[in-house]
Amino acid sequence: MFENLSDRLGGVFDRLTKQGALSEEDVTAALREVRTALLEADVSLPVARSFVKSVTAKATGAAVTKSVTPGQQVVKIVHDELIKTLQGEGEPDALRIDNPPAPILMVGLQGSGKTTTTAKLAKRLKDREKKKVLMASLDTNRPAAMEQLAILGTQIGVDTLPIVKGETAVQIAKRAKQQASFGGYDVYMLDTAGRLHIDEVLMDEVQAVRDVTNPRETLLVVDGLTGQDAVNVATEFDGKVGISGVVLTRMDGDGRGGAALSMRAVTGKPIRFVGLGEKMDALESFDASRVAGRILG
Ligand code: GDP
Repeated sequence: MFENLSDRLGGVFDRLTKQGALSEEDVTAALREVRTALLEADVSLPVARSFVKSVTAKATGAAVTKSVTPGQQVVKIVHDELIKTLQGEGEPDALRIDNPPAPILMVGLQGSGKTTTTAKLAKRLKDREKKKVLMASLDTNRPAAMEQLAILGTQIGVDTLPIVKGETAVQIAKRAKQQASFGGYDVYMLDTAGRLHIDEVLMDEVQAVRDVTNPRETLLVVDGLTGQDAVNVATEFDGKVGISGVVLTRMDGDGRGGAALSMRAVTGKPIRFVGLGEKMDALESFDASRVAGRILG
């Protein structure tokens, strides 16, 4: 995902660390290249700008340029700033899934990987946290999507709410809530319908489901390959329904990585997980320092 960015930055920093003594101008010129590399990776302009500004402020002082290893110090400052950009200040919170049954609302556009991610996360909660999970598909427009979730449920050993034809999304959500309470589930996950574009009908439906279930977490699933579009989708969903976090899918693909780098800074919402493939185990919790390490090679 970050190969191009990583190559570009690697080149810049190789030169910087080999150079030995550095002037402020050398550092500023290198950081200008960093800015270009970020923009080419589809990082949003304000994020790239503020990133470079912040690194420049820390890296052009005498303490760095007059030090014994100025190049390495600049790299360290970039590394720390990357982590800050990726995760914001402070440590990421755990998912709020105490007080059973905890509802998790999964939202996103069609094709983003929402149903797959719902099942992956359910499996993760079952396997790693020993939670009893119920999944329900609210995609009343696409019976195939409902069946897809049921098939995945069987595959991973997680219960799905039986499909009843003719129900509305809100009716299904209420039934899931009841079943989760009566059935002693720790978590119930609601896989809402996706649309090809954000529209009123989609948002109204998600809001109605949110209002009857009061979700502990509302996770937006977005396709990491779509770069700045992913960030725009997140901003819109957050404005309309309020999201608590983001899952970036297809991070195994050859996208440029801009979505991951801009998401937190633009939306203020944490990236919780990343999807790294089609298999049910291909979901990792988002680890900013690992990503920063990957970017800097
Ligand atoms: P939905 O319409 O948002 O529910 O999307 P689906 O869950 O049906 O996923 C659409 C396609 O994307 C499927 O073929 C998934 O296997 C695939 N997919 C989902 N997540 C990932 C991922 O992280 N990496 C890759 N390579 N494919 C994914």
